Amino acid sequence: MSNLERNANFRTLFGIVVISIAIMLVIGSSSFPNMALSKSSSHVPLLSNGGIIGNSGIGASNLNGFHNQSSSTSLYSAPPPSASTLGGNISKGVSSSNKVVMIGFDDGWKSQITYAKPILDKYGLKASFFVVCNYVNSGDIRRMNWQDIATLQQDRMDVQSHTMDHKPLDKMSTNALIYEIAGSKQCLASHGIDSTIFGYPFNLGSNKPSVVDIVSKYYNFARTGTYPLMSLNCNGFANKKPQQTDCRTYLPDGKLTFANRYDIRSDSFFHISSGHNYGPSEMFQQFIQQVNSQVPYNNNGKINAIPIITYHDLTYNIQDYNKAGTTITVPLFDQEMQYLHDNGFKVLLLNQFGFDPTNNVFYLKKIPSSTSGTATNAAILLSGAPSYSTSKTK
Ligand SMILES: [Zn+2]
Repeated sequence: MSNLERNANFRTLFGIVVISIAIMLVIGSSSFPNMALSKSSSHVPLLSNGGIIGNSGIGASNLNGFHNQSSSTSLYSAPPPSASTLGGNISKGVSSSNKVVMIGFDDGWKSQITYAKPILDKYGLKASFFVVCNYVNSGDIRRMNWQDIATLQQDRMDVQSHTMDHKPLDKMSTNALIYEIAGSKQCLASHGIDSTIFGYPFNLGSNKPSVVDIVSKYYNFARTGTYPLMSLNCNGFANKKPQQTDCRTYLPDGKLTFANRYDIRSDSFFHISSGHNYGPSEMFQQFIQQVNSQVPYNNNGKINAIPIITYHDLTYNIQDYNKAGTTITVPLFDQEMQYLHDNGFKVLLLNQFGFDPTNNVFYLKKIPSSTSGTATNAAILLSGAPSYSTSKTK
């Protein structure tokens, strides 16, 4: 089961490092007037659950346990800004310095270390892994064990919390919530992992104050689903009313905002939509479209929007692929990572998110010292405040 989901402030962990690098994306609001998250003209549904899957009737859950909480039907209601307003580097597609992406893996599938990690290593990429404590404890050979998790950590991957039992949090007693949310942080801590980001199972709970209030006590950030791009100023969700002007958690009337530090929006790889099962080659085209959808929003090295992609299980078996919408084939995953590598994308970890509480905006930190040092993602992170600038390419 497993699925799509989400995640927290590393200030505690890497506070010092952070300051030096804390590259704010902050001021980018004006360049983000209406982040429509353009889905472009393709008629092929994007990976985004929102809208698309919501319309399909697959909403509740599929074989993989995926739940879709989005009821939106038009995530991409407004067109992106025209190229003419964006300055020079749009013309040829994108300047590589403006292309970033975050890669996450949920639910601790064994295939993530067996198949995905060697591919990440091959391209020099790091990723964030959201693990479910009792899956790790279960002894189920389909899941990673603590030795696997330790290997990820030693290799400077980002390991984060995805509850104790992977149950939906939206209808749960306070005590049960505390067990799932605080307990999983403690569980990871007992294995030497300081988790600062929480991922909501099934993307459920981030719209409930009773859930968010507990999450915010134990984590700096939390990740949920169903949006192809995350706006670092939270002002780009075109069809969300009222329009947000920053990433504050609550509106003046006490309602939770659509996007905030406990509601970071990501998008899961998902290939079944509207009754159609998209094959790997179709999904690759969608991937290209999705990771490039940030182009209109990121200019001159200032990042305002980031696609955050969440993967689950990986397989070589096409029948297994067909069974679960969140399962990706190993060759397709390799192809996607190669695309990022060959096209100058900077692959960041979710723990590179920082939050500026004064202006209520996210920023991107340089890779934390504990995860830097290789010629991988670290190479990408520069120093140059106040904008997050990316140097060269690969
Ligand atoms: Zn999950």
